[in-house]
Amino acid sequence: MKEFCPEQAMVEVKREFDEFGGVAPSICRSSTFTVMEPGTMPDIFHGKLTPDAGGCYLYSRHFNPTVKVLDRYLAAMENTQKSISTASGMAAISCALLQSCKSGDHIIASNTVYGGTYALLACLFKEIGIEVSFVDPVNTEGFEKAIRDNTKLIYTETIANPTLKISDISKLSAITKKHGLKLIVDNTFTPMIITPARLGADVVVYSMTKYINGASDLLAGSICSTSEFIDKLMDLHTGRVMLYGPTIDARVAFDIIQRIPSLALRMREHARRALAMSEMLENMKVKVSYPGLKSHPQHELMDSMINKGYGYGGLLTIDCITQAKAYDLMRELQNVERFGLLAVSLGYFDTLISCSSSSTSSEIPEDKQAEMGLSNGLIRISVGITGSLESRMEQLERAVRKVLL
Ligand SMILES: *Cc1c(COP(=O)(O)O)cnc(C)c1O
Repeated sequence: MKEFCPEQAMVEVKREFDEFGGVAPSICRSSTFTVMEPGTMPDIFHGKLTPDAGGCYLYSRHFNPTVKVLDRYLAAMENTQKSISTASGMAAISCALLQSCKSGDHIIASNTVYGGTYALLACLFKEIGIEVSFVDPVNTEGFEKAIRDNTKLIYTETIANPTLKISDISKLSAITKKHGLKLIVDNTFTPMIITPARLGADVVVYSMTKYINGASDLLAGSICSTSEFIDKLMDLHTGRVMLYGPTIDARVAFDIIQRIPSLALRMREHARRALAMSEMLENMKVKVSYPGLKSHPQHELMDSMINKGYGYGGLLTIDCITQAKAYDLMRELQNVERFGLLAVSLGYFDTLISCSSSSTSSEIPEDKQAEMGLSNGLIRISVGITGSLESRMEQLERAVRKVLL
């Protein structure tokens, strides 16, 4: 397959200038839009005159010109026909899933997904009669074995949160195509690095709260897919994004638009630093996991999926075995060394450190955490891009020597 360059794809998107020719797009804050002819209104409501089809805007929960600019960037980056932005990553995930299945249907999901997604699938979906089977994402055959007559889709994360297990998207896509199912992939950890739609994913979802925005100052999500699927989500009478209504604010969309041009630079730098730190930790005989290390059990699979030149992502984990040790290391890293901040989330320009089992994965019961290979001494580090790499490495080395060795 020809090498795909997401940053080039994004600059080829139609530029939007503001009404004065300004280089930044304007923020359209209108909730509602004027029509010149009363007869236009019914055509809009019947989906005949959408902005994409040369029509006009109606109401900002449906389409908004500023949000459209962001949507075009995301679709270009993901190599999909269209995308729609949402108010959060969870909104993108729940709407994409609820558009794809209903009560009585069955989903097969990776057992090592983001805690919120796990709770949505395991509790809320169960309540409304959607069954979910959880399987180990490393064992691709496990997904196929779990298929039933009422299975509608497979759901996974490209790189799992927080175990950094990698899903073989091409193989999963072969399975879903063979059985007439849909493959939905959460690519939050690897924008630019992996383009799931090129590997056969039908729908790609994002928490743009993380790397895509990169400043930890807003929440947003995105669904990227075919025109057919995105149009369904936005249908005035049945669309899940349109009717559940998790609309992104135009001001939030604008902020993300202005940060997207630096995404490629940021992803490369996050990855460069995460690799250097992982190599140092490995040499110190610390239990470190990072997909860019040859010792990562799925390093070769990752290599086969990435767009070259963006590295292997900005997340690494250190297994401190016990929670007490993990907490000691976390205190040392923040309060003594000022290496990073003890906070959940990821993709920020500063380093964020969390102990997953007792935070972002705490929705997952302890026995299930053990099943998915999540130790309660596991620290997840979202490696930042501030400060000099040399001093950051020294801070990390000192803290690890003091607490773990
Ligand atoms: C944070 C996160 C989400 C949820 O996104 P929000 O923007 O917080 O709603 C979903 N999936 C992954 C992998 C995440 O890291």
